[in-house]
Formats: sequence, structure tokens, C-alpha cells
Amino acid sequence: MAGADTDLIAGLDPEQLAAVRAPRGPVCVLAGAGTGKTRTIVSRIAHLIGAGHVTAGQVLAVTFTARAAGEMRTRLRAMGISGAQARTFHSAALRQLRYFWPRVVGDAPWELLETKLRLVGQAAHRAGTGTEREALRDLASEIEWAKASLVAPEDYPAAAARARRDTPAAPELVAKVYAGYESLKNAAKVLDFDDLLLHTAAALEENSEVADEFRDRYRCFVVDEYQDVTPLQQRVLDAWLGRRDDLTVVGDANQTIYSFAGASPRPLLDFTRRFPEAAVVRLERDYRSTPEVVSLANRVISAARDRPAGSRLRLVGQRPAGPEPRFAEYDDEPAEASAVAARVKELVDAGTPLSEIAVLYRINAQSEVYEQALTELEIPYLVRGGERFFARQEIRQAMAALRTAAGRPPEGELPAVVRQVLAPIGLTDEPPAGGSARERWGSLLALVELAEELAAALPDADLSRYVSELDQRAQAQHPPTVEGVTLASLHAAKGLEWDAVFLVGLTDGTMPIQHADGDDAAIEEERRLLYVGVTRAREHLALSWALARTEGGKRYRRRSRFLYGLIPDNDPVARIAASRQREMPRQAMARGMNPVRYCRVCGDKLVGTMPVKLGRCESCPSDLDEGLLERLREWRLERSKGLKVPAYVIFTDATLLAIAEQRPADRAALVAISGVGASKLDRFGAEVLAITGA
Ligand code: ATP
Ligand code: MG
Repeated sequence: MAGADTDLIAGLDPEQLAAVRAPRGPVCVLAGAGTGKTRTIVSRIAHLIGAGHVTAGQVLAVTFTARAAGEMRTRLRAMGISGAQARTFHSAALRQLRYFWPRVVGDAPWELLETKLRLVGQAAHRAGTGTEREALRDLASEIEWAKASLVAPEDYPAAAARARRDTPAAPELVAKVYAGYESLKNAAKVLDFDDLLLHTAAALEENSEVADEFRDRYRCFVVDEYQDVTPLQQRVLDAWLGRRDDLTVVGDANQTIYSFAGASPRPLLDFTRRFPEAAVVRLERDYRSTPEVVSLANRVISAARDRPAGSRLRLVGQRPAGPEPRFAEYDDEPAEASAVAARVKELVDAGTPLSEIAVLYRINAQSEVYEQALTELEIPYLVRGGERFFARQEIRQAMAALRTAAGRPPEGELPAVVRQVLAPIGLTDEPPAGGSARERWGSLLALVELAEELAAALPDADLSRYVSELDQRAQAQHPPTVEGVTLASLHAAKGLEWDAVFLVGLTDGTMPIQHADGDDAAIEEERRLLYVGVTRAREHLALSWALARTEGGKRYRRRSRFLYGLIPDNDPVARIAASRQREMPRQAMARGMNPVRYCRVCGDKLVGTMPVKLGRCESCPSDLDEGLLERLREWRLERSKGLKVPAYVIFTDATLLAIAEQRPADRAALVAISGVGASKLDRFGAEVLAITGA
């Protein structure tokens, strides 16, 4: 064991080591972003198991997102540990409740309610208030806040006043909808996500037999991202612990970004008050980011008002120097997105892997313009890290094929076997040119890479072991890394890191978000969100904003107030970028004023790369003129030879297909096709229109 222990602690600094080696009992690591908190707790778990203090099965580690939990399991496995639970609070509670339910409640069945909206809608209707989607979503979030804060319907108005909530309707009305929702839900015998936690806590609090069994099974608890714990989660944690104190928590109060949802850093900051004998460790060395990024992060957070005691840490960058963060202002969002995509391409050409690049924004609706810009440059991407990976059609097909093959596996090394099984589903040796075929290919390739990872960690792993790994990952929503740029919200980026990070859309009204205005606490939370964003970058960091939303739109926006003081007003980078943008031909009519696109056959909103390119849903009938497509292809081939560039640089296959299908009659119709930008219109527009017969 000594050898294994030396391996896992090699490379840790003295403070990290102190946390890893602290005796069983309460431990609190209070430290800034990138200081190795997650690495420390994973090492601590491995150390406690390796030294024989607990068995792997007795450890329960909880963290914030499914992706982070998956990451923990992967890191534990890399240290040779299997069987330790690493889950989100919800998934841990779901598992426990399934197990204990019959004993606590009897055989009354229950189902999990995936979304509250329908029942909230019924309750709102009965309470006589508005039932528009937006209003229902606000009511549902407010009910979630109340439940996370352990506030019952009748106590809601007082609690909302105390917490100075900006309530979506009169507090009494919200309380009425909340009460109505609860009774509809109980009548339908369904539990929502918050109920999972409530019932788990109640089962342990009220049933001593259940509590004894649970506490015998789990002895050692670890919580990552503890600054964002809600009162409801804390209650579950307390129920898990009972009177014991074998609890390690790590967190960074400066990264509290869910207080709008009821989370609070108080339990983290007050940990030693609750456990006076706790070992407390502070980490200041930032191993993630270059000193340039660290310096910007320090400046962002030092401007925060009301930083609680215990959160004033100054990060010290440990990595070699790197490039200065870049700031850039653009005339409009499409220009900002094109510039980001172009820069992504430069980084990729210079050797940065796609999966090491992220574009982060404040709200999910901002992703669309980046999806388009990346598509135009044929750069694969994943929205929000691809949690829905296992729901993809090709992955479902692949899992079915692998499962069948596991019965009578072909001869050979695991990765080669997986490749062979996936070949008929679309895993060719070379990637297809672009569009959805490229996306399918990328996700299948990720399965092969996972097989390579598994084979490296466990040389004897066979196909059935691999399939069970996939099943576990599917259950925990832990997709393998797919080669693609990550597009994610700042909230979803928590705990993660990339070599290059683009923080986009940094205008006042988006960052900080408009509805935070006038509420100091909400503004401070927005500032912390920016700090989380900045600290995701290892090396390259770019911050940008656009003055208008659409091309040619009115440039009425201002850059984020958080950036004042970070960049001098005459910063050369920002000015050059802005003036370069202004030299670009203005294309007021390009793409219309509305970035949302609709299917020209059925009129539905288009979602995804290929439908946007084609201008129709993939399932809607195509009106392709094959002859025209052939003529366009010949023209493109000739032009690409003449210009000595690959054909796709002129137009991608998908764009050509869209042109052939839509037969644009004039320049306006042509430029409306995704993939035909202003400069391509100028260069090739007349020729293409001559071929389409306009
Ligand atoms: P966050 O607050 O963003 O969650 P964190 O404190 O959890 O950050 P980690 O993700 O654990 O930080 O570590 C950040 C990076 O630094 C990781 O790539 C990790 O492997 C590396 N790292 C941590 N500790 C060390 C160390 N002692 N030596 C070298 N690299 C380290
Ligand atoms: Mg972490």
C-alpha cells in the first residue's frame, strides 16, 4: 500500500497534503479557483481507502453536477479505486430512496416528475393567475427556491419578504400556486427532484432502522463545491451524518453562483463553528491558470463588495507566463461570433485540441449565433458539454450493437473491437466533410477513445466490461469527451477547465443580467459568475462584447460594468479589434434581423446544425434539384482549383445542398442561406445566381 500511497500523493503541495492526510473527522478546505480542491479530495478519498481507514464502499462523495461527479469517478479509477460513490445530491438521494422506500412507505409506487411546468400550470390556472410559459417558468423556479430553502407554502410570503425575493407574482398568489402544485403532485403520486431530497432526509430522520442501516453502510462523506449548498441539501447531509463527523468539505465562497436558487456559502464559512476540532486548510497556489489569467481573476474578485471573512484569498499563479487576456469589442453579435470562430480555428491550427476550447455565455439563448459561426467554419462543437450524449440516435444504435457483440465478441484488442462494431453505424476511417454526419462520426469516435482509456486503465477489460462502463456512464449522465468546442453557460462551467476560454456577450444587461439591476446582492453574484468564467482558462482567455444584437442593428449597448478598471479605455487590443470590424462591409440585409430560423416547409423553429443549414427540418420533404446540385458542384470544383483552396472553403457541402434546394432567386435570398456570408456573396454571388438561373 505504501507504494500506491506515494503515487497518489506525489506532486501535491504541503497544504494539499495536510488535507489529504488529516485524520478521519471534519476537514475543511477553503480555497480559490484552480488551487486543486477537487484534486485534493479525490486524493484524500484514495488515501483513506489505501491506508485502510475505510473501504471504498463506505465512501460517499457528492458534488454539484453530473459531469463533475463523473470526473471524480474517472480520477478515482485512474488511482486504482473502484466502488466509491461519487454522485450529485439528487442522484445519491434517488438511489437511496429507491432502496428504502418500500420499508418507509410500503408498496405505494411513485414516479419521478421530470418537469414541474404542467402541474404548476394547472395550479396557476386554479389560483386564477397567468399561465403563459414564461410566467410558469418563473413560478416553478420560485417554488424550487422555496423547497430548496425548506419553506412551506404557508410560510412563503414571510420567507420571501425576509430574503427580499423579487417574487414573480404577489407573494400570497405564489404561495397559493405552490400549495396547489403540491397537492396536485401528491394526488398524482409523483415526486419532483426536491422531494427526492426531502423524503430521503425524512426517511433517515424518522426511521431509526433505516438510519442505522444507512450509517452502517456509509461512513465517510465528502462534499465538493460546498459553497453552493442549499438548506435542503444540508439537511440531507446532516441526516446522512447523524452524530458522526467524518466529513470533508471543500469550496470557494467567491464562486457562490446559485444563491438565487437558495444556496448559501454560510455552512462552508461557519464550518469550524460547527466542528471546532476541524482541520482547516487554505490553498493559495493556482495550478490551473497562467499568472496573466490569475492576475485578471484577482482583479475581478477584489472589486467585489461585502466579501465575507474567510473568502479573501489572493491566488498566486504557478504556471509559466502565457499570453495576456484579450479584450475585444464588436459592432454586432454575428461579427463577434465570426471573430471568435476564426480565433478558435487559429488555435486549432496551432495545435490546441477542440475539446480544450470553450465558449462561455451568460444565458443559453446566446449559443445560437456561435453555433452558426462555428458551423460556417466547419468546427465541431457540443452545446453544454453534451449531457444528452446518451440520448443521441447513433449512440443508442452503437450501444445496442455493442451489447449484441458482447455476447460473441470478435477477436482483438478492445479499442479495435469497438471500432469494428461501430464501423457499420458510420465510424469511417476518415471524418466525413461536415454537418450532421461529422457530428455522428465525432460521437462514435468518442466511444472508441473511451475504449482506449479503459484499456489503458484496465488492460484485461473486455467488451462486456466496456459495455457495463457505458451503462454506468449513461445512468450517471457522464458522457465521454467528444472532440468539439464546448458551448456552455457560465453556470454549467463550474469546476471545469479548458486551455482556451472565450467569455462572450459581456454587455451590461447580459453580464450582469438585466434583472439583477437594483439588487446589490444579485449584482455581486453576477460578478462572481464572471470570476468563475475567468478562472476556467488555463492559458488563452478572450473577453468580448458586441454593441448591437443583429448585423446593422443599432449600437446601443455598453460593455459590462465589471470590465471598467480591468481594461484601460484606450486599450489597443480593444480598439484595433473594433476598428477592424468597422472596416468590414456592412451587410444590413444579411440573414434578416432575426437570428432564429424557421423551417421553410413546416414553419417550425429550426434547431441544430444541419436543419439551420438546409433551412428545413431534416424530416421535412426535400425539393432537391439533383441536376442543379451537380452543376453547383462542378462550378465549386473549378473555382477551388483556380483559387488553390479546398472546395469547402468556397461553400460546404451542406451550403451547396441548401442552395440547390432553395434555388435563391436574388442576392437577398442567397445571403439568407446559412454559410453564405457577406464576403462570399460579394465574391461568388453573381456566379451562383447565374447557375441557379436567377
Ligand atoms: P475549482 O474551484 O475551479 O473547482 P479546484 O480548486 O477544484 O478548482 P482542481 O480542478 O482540483 O482545482 O485543480 C486545478 C488544476 O490544477 C487541475 O488541472 C489539477 O490537476 C491541477 N493541480 C492541482 N494541484 C496540483 C499540484 N499540486 N501540482 C500540479 N497541478 C495541480
Ligand atoms: Mg473543483
